[in-house]
Amino acid sequence: MIRETIEKKKPVIIVEKLEKFFGSEQSRVKALAGVSFEVFPGEIVFLFGPSGSGKSTLLNILAGLEVPDGGKVVIDGVDINKMNKEEKAIFHREKVGMVFQAYDLIPSLNIFDNISLPLVFSKILPAKRREIVSKMLNDFNLSALADRLPAEVSGGQQQRVGVMRALICQPPIIIADEPTGNLDSASATEVMDLFARLNDDIGTTMIVVTHNPEQLHYADRVIHVLDGKVIKQTVHHHREASRPAKKNSWTTYVEQKHSKREEKIIKLMKIILSKTQLDGFAETEIERTAILIEAAIDKKITISALRKNLDLPTKDGGAGLYSNTAHHIADNIEALLEVL
Ligand code: ADP
Ligand code: MG
Repeated sequence: MIRETIEKKKPVIIVEKLEKFFGSEQSRVKALAGVSFEVFPGEIVFLFGPSGSGKSTLLNILAGLEVPDGGKVVIDGVDINKMNKEEKAIFHREKVGMVFQAYDLIPSLNIFDNISLPLVFSKILPAKRREIVSKMLNDFNLSALADRLPAEVSGGQQQRVGVMRALICQPPIIIADEPTGNLDSASATEVMDLFARLNDDIGTTMIVVTHNPEQLHYADRVIHVLDGKVIKQTVHHHREASRPAKKNSWTTYVEQKHSKREEKIIKLMKIILSKTQLDGFAETEIERTAILIEAAIDKKITISALRKNLDLPTKDGGAGLYSNTAHHIADNIEALLEVL
């Protein structure tokens, strides 16, 4: 949805200083270390970050499946942790559709009945249910599988059925945790295109976790998460414009609109790296590198986290640099911080 329209609205989701710990007192893991952000109606927001950065924990709290240790979540004006069990059930059926990577379909029900289940709970009459589910199956090109049991279709198809089940009541908000994680790239594109279409057609608000940088162009805004913290948000004013550039990504990146702060990080990158190195980067690599350098300078992440994440492949949420380039940058930033 167009950014200017989005920004005039009130947030539909407010996440405030969320904290979550796991484990015993001796071996405490801080999964979320004070995460705050807002989501506006009609936005597609992606949560992007490496494995273990707290994305699933965050979504599980939004979905009401986990209770935070600190902070709060307000969805559509309601603090979700103040609802009782029954209120939560109705709330999630009507307001929030959830898509998870583990697509727990009911094994004894065929595909058709699995998808129509939420409509049964919402007391939609059988004839209407058949009409809605048939249309959905048709839209997803899966009509031929209607009578099969989950065990009789492929993993990718089961995942698409899970997505359909989450979408069938047309909830105003969809939360998806790596919804395309198990899919081949053609099926993944189909699912993402469907999300984009739902957003364009009926303004569904989406929060999608991914660690696939190739999907980020679907987002209106990307929230970068690392070590249980938001390290940066990138707004895409026009989704189309943010598609990866074809050649010389560095030039394209430098020509984009940047804040004063980002201009300085770009200058710093030019000092630390050679022109050949910079020209060899893909756009995602440049952007991730800049974000990580900024986070390290702000002491939001340690030098060793910087080193590790510069080296980590982009598909795992890192910057995807060659190891020696990653070390070179980390060494320079470390030296810089020592004299600051
Ligand atoms: P992501 O989805 O970004 O990969 P998670 O939210 O799954 O990250 O995990 C964040 C951190 O919290 C990790 O260090 C993970 O090991 C830990 N964690 C998540 N769930 C649990 C749990 N149920 N018990 C213990 N530790 C957990
Ligand atoms: Mg996860």
